[in-house]
Amino acid sequence: MIAFFKLLFRNRLAAVGAVVLTVIVLMALAVPILPLKDPNLPHTAARFTPPFSEGYLLGADHLGRDQLSRLLWGTRTSLAVGAVAAFLAAFLGSAIGILSGYFGGRTDNILMRLIDMLMAFPYILLALAIVAALGTGLINALIAVAAVNIPFFARNIRGITVGLSHREFVDAARLAGKGHSRIILSEILPNVLPVIVIAMSTTVGWMILETAGLSFLGLGSQPPDSDLGSMLGLARAAFTTHPHTSIIPGVMIFLIVMSVNLLGDGVRDALDPRLRSGALSRPMAVTKVARNRTLPAAATPAPLLAVDDLETQFHVGERRYEAVGKVSLQVNPGECLGIIGESGSGKSVTALSLTGLVASPPGVITGGAVRLEGDDLLSANYETLRSIRGNRIAYIFQDPLSTLHPLYTVGDQLAEAIRCHAPVSRADAKSRALELMEAVRIPNAATRLSSYPHEMSGGMRQRVGIAMAMANDPDIIIADEPTTALDVTVQAQILSLLNDLRRERGLAIVFITHDFGVVAQLCDRVAVMYAGRIVEEGPTDAILATPAHPYTKRLIACVPELGGGRRELAAIPGLPPMVDDLPPGCHFAPRCDKATAECRVGYIALREGKQQRAVRCIHPEEDIA
Ligand code: ADP
Ligand code: MG
Repeated sequence: MIAFFKLLFRNRLAAVGAVVLTVIVLMALAVPILPLKDPNLPHTAARFTPPFSEGYLLGADHLGRDQLSRLLWGTRTSLAVGAVAAFLAAFLGSAIGILSGYFGGRTDNILMRLIDMLMAFPYILLALAIVAALGTGLINALIAVAAVNIPFFARNIRGITVGLSHREFVDAARLAGKGHSRIILSEILPNVLPVIVIAMSTTVGWMILETAGLSFLGLGSQPPDSDLGSMLGLARAAFTTHPHTSIIPGVMIFLIVMSVNLLGDGVRDALDPRLRSGALSRPMAVTKVARNRTLPAAATPAPLLAVDDLETQFHVGERRYEAVGKVSLQVNPGECLGIIGESGSGKSVTALSLTGLVASPPGVITGGAVRLEGDDLLSANYETLRSIRGNRIAYIFQDPLSTLHPLYTVGDQLAEAIRCHAPVSRADAKSRALELMEAVRIPNAATRLSSYPHEMSGGMRQRVGIAMAMANDPDIIIADEPTTALDVTVQAQILSLLNDLRRERGLAIVFITHDFGVVAQLCDRVAVMYAGRIVEEGPTDAILATPAHPYTKRLIACVPELGGGRRELAAIPGLPPMVDDLPPGCHFAPRCDKATAECRVGYIALREGKQQRAVRCIHPEEDIA
């Protein structure tokens, strides 16, 4: 709750709206106890007294009634009617929307056709017709305004409910034996409530205006009572001679509607969960780079891709999540480097940092360099980076169903990936797409070009993902757990495909995984990550045979071995640390049975040994020197 208000008031305009509205509401609430004149008492001698006169702070109207008193009483009425109309419309509209979206079928059809009938009439005409049918009066105006706003809520909420009612958690509630009313109240309602609040906060202003409009036309509040609208209506005749009688209620209507709308926009922004963790801004096209140290020295001769002391953090409020801490890696053409680690160890953030793809805010690259053939990518401008992304450095992601566009055929998407970087004709792009589909060994490639992603199996979709990464003959492919969503036979096919591609084309592959079995099949070298740091690095065979870091050893021991006899799998006790509160010294120390006091103090450097091995440990399992 406090966080919500903090976020709300970070938006200056919303804060102004909130303050103005609070003052107006407090005044309206205090009206009965304020020392005001009777708003309905005429006083002929005081007709059209100008503002700031003795006894009449805001002057008097055409009957000599005190304007200040009438304004405050009128504001009270207008606010109350507007708010009640908004609640009524929101309550009834949302109820209709939820029922119709949840039950679907005939219920949906009947309710929505009724709503359509309401929507078929112009808005204000419908309100006029309702008041005409019910008779003039403030309550009837309220009913009319609420009624014409019901379709807005019903339509909005129905759309969201339809999406929710087929989600897994609703199915789970059904499986658990919950009835319809409990599912609606405990599963659906909490999910649509923020939307109802948002829709309400952005329509209250409208509803106040509409009731004022009906009163202006003489259909709302009836004399001698008045709200802001009828004050305006009565003052209309004297507008040219005594403008203060119209300007004063006009300014009040303006203030109320403006403040409600500003506050409403602020509430909408603050309730959006995507904005809660970051500032109220959309991610930048390139990750923010704020390096405060000098760049680490470059290796000579420059490798194809060299990552030196890369540091990526997430800055959320006061918190610093150190997702990647001083990671250094190198890959050369034709080489496959594995990055392995538990979920949350910073593998994906490392991969995304290379071409500035980490969302900023909250991501910030706070140190290090990423050099492509010696040129630092982190200092490159957006245009340069864009020409490298997907062209020289390409990505393959874990779930091809969420990275492929569901509404385009895979052929179109491949062609688009090609035309994004090369000025070729549509037909050439199509024929190149066909070549790519054949290169990744998709059967019936020519007919498959016109398939949509949902028509393909997981393995085939991932082949399309690989084809797309290959589209512009990249030098480097970064594969972020590309086989995790696939079954083992398809995984084996994908791995051998990647292996062939790198041998045929001299591709460099950075292969991210949590599976040592996959590393053993594909990678020449492997880097083991733990809580944002590389704890061990070296040739795959050497590390698999003689792991030096206790973490690596235990990670390998977790892999079941086929035909290896019965053996208890040694799960690693404890959990990886939260990266916003990393222990000093070795990050693995709390879970390590070899840890001593010296492991828990100070930074532990990566020590190099023979055979290009390196380990970050004071008590390694193997002596690699
Ligand atoms: P993995 O190794 O499983 O790919 P990631 O690289 O995705 O792990 O995440 C590394 C760490 O960064 C995790 O601890 C995660 O909680 C943290 N992290 C990722 N994105 C954000 C974010 N937007 N805000 C805060 N922390 C984040
Ligand atoms: Mg990941």
